Amino acid sequence: MATRRLPVYLLLDCSESMAGKPLENVETGVQTLLAALQRDPHALESVYLSIITFDAKARVAVPLEDLSQIRAPKLSIRPGTAMGAALKLVQESISRDVRRASPTQKGDFRPLIFILTDGQPTDEWEAAARDLKNMKHHPANVYAIGCGEEVDFSTMLQIADVSVHLKSMSTESLAGLFLWLSASVQSQSVALVPDGPLSLEKSPLKKGMELIGPSNVPQFQHDSVLYFHVRCRDALGHYLMRYRFVPETRFYEALDATPLPEDFFSDGAMKSPPVDASKLYGAPKCPFCQSQGWGKCGFCGHLFCLDHDRPARSLTCPHCQTSLTIDDDGASFTVDGSQG
Ligand SMILES: [Zn+2]
Ligand SMILES: [Zn+2]
Repeated sequence: MATRRLPVYLLLDCSESMAGKPLENVETGVQTLLAALQRDPHALESVYLSIITFDAKARVAVPLEDLSQIRAPKLSIRPGTAMGAALKLVQESISRDVRRASPTQKGDFRPLIFILTDGQPTDEWEAAARDLKNMKHHPANVYAIGCGEEVDFSTMLQIADVSVHLKSMSTESLAGLFLWLSASVQSQSVALVPDGPLSLEKSPLKKGMELIGPSNVPQFQHDSVLYFHVRCRDALGHYLMRYRFVPETRFYEALDATPLPEDFFSDGAMKSPPVDASKLYGAPKCPFCQSQGWGKCGFCGHLFCLDHDRPARSLTCPHCQTSLTIDDDGASFTVDGSQG
């Protein structure tokens, strides 16, 4: 008779809001998690793991398979947070891959689903979340880990059985999160009754993690961070520029700029409604040429880096190659944001 397996699904948000260090930390975290589980004889015997990533689309990065076979996938960011599509992929895999009990064999253990996200779903997630909850033959335990300050926990509470807030996405706190994840999976793989819900007492939360329920949903402000795509005029590289809303000043202040991977636009970047540029304060440095500022092409509407201290009288748009002259009259205009 085949051994009962413990299916574990890791759903990773790879949207723009994870750009830079957070995504690197998640990548390292997945490597740590795999290494810890692969050293553990109990886990090696029972755990089958699948990794699903989501941005504008959801993808199966690692199909449900034997722990010993799995290598940590390379993650890259793209716009969008298609959490509904990711939940649907999990549901498909559970129906297809998880063994049900029959008179001749015990079925697999109750699947564990961990969703790691730092934003709000940008697709239709309600039906997928409901369908996942209503899988009669394969009830699963769903854990949502919301990272950072942009998480919509009212949504998380509807999707997950247990919601946890990881306040910071620093290297240290993400490392703690992945230690907690491996401890949770390990304790579940040795538990005497691994069919029930995961017991948090067995794997206490690490520093910086907080259990969220209906009574302590953290404040969340929609669009508190704005995202823009900019292209360097010198190096022609693309980068993501972020502005954060400051309630005291009612302005969006420049936060940072992170280079985007070459394949970032291959799935089509999505646009959010235009933003009034007069609400944006300051500018992050271009990560390629260090220009302190940016401008907008009057022809194609795209953004490029621009040194405001040493303004050029004429320049070429790196997107549409149109020769432009800069007007300094400070006229107000709108810029197209991205979805984050
Ligand atoms: Zn530049
Ligand atoms: Zn242009």
